[in-house]
Amino acid sequence: MYRSHTCGELRASHIDTEVTLSGWVQKSRDKGFIVWVDLRDRYGITQLVFDEERTPKAMMEKAQNLGREFVIQVTGTVIERASKNPNIPTGDVEILVSKMDILNESVLPPFTIEDKTDGGEDIRMKYRYLDIRRNPVKNSLIFRHKVTQEVRNYLSNDGFIEVETPYLIKSTPEGARDFVVPSRMNEGEFYALPQSPQTFKQLLMVGGMDKYFQIVKCFRDEDLRADRQPEFTQIDCEMAFVEQEDILNAFEGLTRHLLKEVNGVEINEFPRMLYDDAMRLYGNDKPDIRFGMEFGELNDVAQHKDFGVFNSAELVVGIAVPGGNSYTRKEIDKLIDWVKRPQVGALGMVYSRCNDDGSYKSSVDKFYNQDDLAKWAEKTGAKPGDLVCVLSGDKNKVRAQLSALRMELAERLGLRKPNEFAPLWVLDFPLLEWDEETERYHAMHHPFTSPKPGQLELLATNPGEVKANAYDLVLNGNEIGGGSIRIHDKKTQALMFDYLGFTEEEAKEQFGFLMNAFEYGAPPHGGLAFGLDRLVAILGGQETIRDFIAFPKNNSGRDVMIDAPAPLDNKQLEELSLKLNLKS
Ligand code: ASP
Repeated sequence: MYRSHTCGELRASHIDTEVTLSGWVQKSRDKGFIVWVDLRDRYGITQLVFDEERTPKAMMEKAQNLGREFVIQVTGTVIERASKNPNIPTGDVEILVSKMDILNESVLPPFTIEDKTDGGEDIRMKYRYLDIRRNPVKNSLIFRHKVTQEVRNYLSNDGFIEVETPYLIKSTPEGARDFVVPSRMNEGEFYALPQSPQTFKQLLMVGGMDKYFQIVKCFRDEDLRADRQPEFTQIDCEMAFVEQEDILNAFEGLTRHLLKEVNGVEINEFPRMLYDDAMRLYGNDKPDIRFGMEFGELNDVAQHKDFGVFNSAELVVGIAVPGGNSYTRKEIDKLIDWVKRPQVGALGMVYSRCNDDGSYKSSVDKFYNQDDLAKWAEKTGAKPGDLVCVLSGDKNKVRAQLSALRMELAERLGLRKPNEFAPLWVLDFPLLEWDEETERYHAMHHPFTSPKPGQLELLATNPGEVKANAYDLVLNGNEIGGGSIRIHDKKTQALMFDYLGFTEEEAKEQFGFLMNAFEYGAPPHGGLAFGLDRLVAILGGQETIRDFIAFPKNNSGRDVMIDAPAPLDNKQLEELSLKLNLKS
């Protein structure tokens, strides 16, 4: 028996009992005549004590030579600690050790295994198994477990069946590049790893499963922006015989349950916003509504004066920065530099100070009088003491730029409080979006998404205007889930593929299986998927997903611990009938 108790378990009530513990040496303090050792396992830390008077000499020496992260087993008596440590649950007691075995030695770890470590990101990732011993990472993984357990419980109780779908499949078009896997048995042919189980879950609906979910890995070969992973986890769901309202209710219920069970936060009905309004008011399809700073469109009041920059702009739009009138000229100049950074891309920024006496002082006083500036304040909701920041230009670009500024300022003003939760449904997404690169429309969500009733005809005349039965769930400015009501008849699906530029042959070759299935009585159906990694991070009060993933990849898609990806040797290449044609 390696242990009678864990290192997090012993209390004053255990005093005088004999116990056996196993764990890692967190640290030891050697005063010569007395040695204290902190013994750690997943459950906590217990102090061990060895002293000249009570500990045999040989064991005293052994204790003095224990290194950090040695794995040991000790037996001893629980005694009351002379100086108690109120910071840890076991702080009232220590173990007077009578027997000690070193189960395994450890070389000196490359960073300190403590809450605040001296190890940088790279080294921690290389030795992730040591990093996982640290509380912040360990607790994040335990937190993730709790969330997934709650998801499973809730959905199972609600009649959802967890069904596994294959990883070796044919491409699913979710907008990213596929990871592909060569098939040895089918020379020259490749599987694709699923970007999501989309078509399979739809086939499960055709198969009559009615309510499906799966906590599932998805794979997308994208250039990795700061907080993305090439493999990530979805809570993937689908339901038959449902309308949008049924889906929103079902998954609002799940999210409410998680917020309550995991965070102790009760939220009633989630607000809903149309996509068009989200773009107009926040410049963003995933607005953070924990704070205001809504956009005020200023075309009416800022154009047709003598300021050419605004006159030639498609959109002039501003926000009020609470208390922003206190910014010095230098601070405002810095803000202007911030919006001009290539990552944001604005050409400049106009501002108007709202003075406490109700007057205004703007950077464009030459063109605008006090009445004009009062209208800017009114449209942006600015009060005395605020600062109105105004950007102008192409509508889509300027919205994105002002949205970036809004988030940055809110961050600086401490308005994005991690323990405050503001969920929001965003509804009625466009069906299609224009892609500059390929100069054509793509499905904004995916090609299986149905258009709003009665809008199919618009596809031919005004495709950009067609709205979809598609919805996103947003939490604190992050998209945590998204889905749609699907097309469930072959004719509409064929039409959709046609509009998306698939020839009949291409559609048949890639999605013949789905179109065939639609000929055998496909029920109306719809669903959604949550991004589990991000959901867990946000519920955990953080915005970076990496600490909630046991073995994440870095920004170049590498696992630096196992050193993957890696070249194949020639024998493997031959077996797969592959020849490399490397560019460098
Ligand atoms: N498969 C979709 C996605 O990964 C979600 C859905 O439409 O259910 O975004």
